[in-house]
Amino acid sequence: MRKMMLALVLGLALLLVAAPAAAAPGWQGGKTAVTFLGHAAFQLTSGGTTILIDPYITGNPQAAVSPDIIEADYILVTHAHGDHLGDTVAIAKRTGAKVIATAEVARMLKDQGCDVVPVHIGAKKALDFGYVRVTPAFHGSGVAGGHAAGFIVNLRGTSVYHAGDTSLFGDMALLGRLEKIDCALLPIGDNYTMGPDDAVEAAGMLKAKIVVPMHYNTHALIKQDPAAFKKAVETRFKGVKVEIMKPGAALIL
Ligand SMILES: [Zn+2]
Repeated sequence: MRKMMLALVLGLALLLVAAPAAAAPGWQGGKTAVTFLGHAAFQLTSGGTTILIDPYITGNPQAAVSPDIIEADYILVTHAHGDHLGDTVAIAKRTGAKVIATAEVARMLKDQGCDVVPVHIGAKKALDFGYVRVTPAFHGSGVAGGHAAGFIVNLRGTSVYHAGDTSLFGDMALLGRLEKIDCALLPIGDNYTMGPDDAVEAAGMLKAKIVVPMHYNTHALIKQDPAAFKKAVETRFKGVKVEIMKPGAALIL
């Protein structure tokens, strides 16, 4: 009996430790889980593939997981500013994840010992889970001569657009025509990226079924009201739903 209790306690302890790493209920069911890790960091999981985007965990006041246990097969880095590059190098080295980034950022990460897949804006790169379309993002890359980017990830047929740090740009309408975007992750913080008014326009152009605001309220300079953004989008564009995600929460697509 005591042995059983011990096994139970140990089992529970394992479950608690393991939960944040998995952090994606439902991914075995053929669906895609989008887990918000705080700021602009997301984890996509489907069919056993785990993709991290901009894993800024250490120093992120919204961080919902530990960088020491998080799993990844791929890490997508939109640009090399600290609040996006984050824990990429440490996680990539521990897990063996391939790091996808624009050429100059990838070169820097290769020099730091990462296994990289260099891409550039315009690429529609085929990978074992589907493909990644590399989109423009109007922002610094954090590496001399480099470009910031966004990514449309097609993960076994489900399409998630992470805009990166960017202003509004008219070719988002083209992206909405070329891709059937299931979920768009859009910055609304203003100051370093587009603000909520421009993000409403972006939501209309992309025609995504679900829009998730990101890159806001991490600190005072990017303070915004996501509920007002949600109301503005849903009032203006019928059929578009805005999901305000709490760090650690997962959306099942
Ligand atoms: Zn940023």
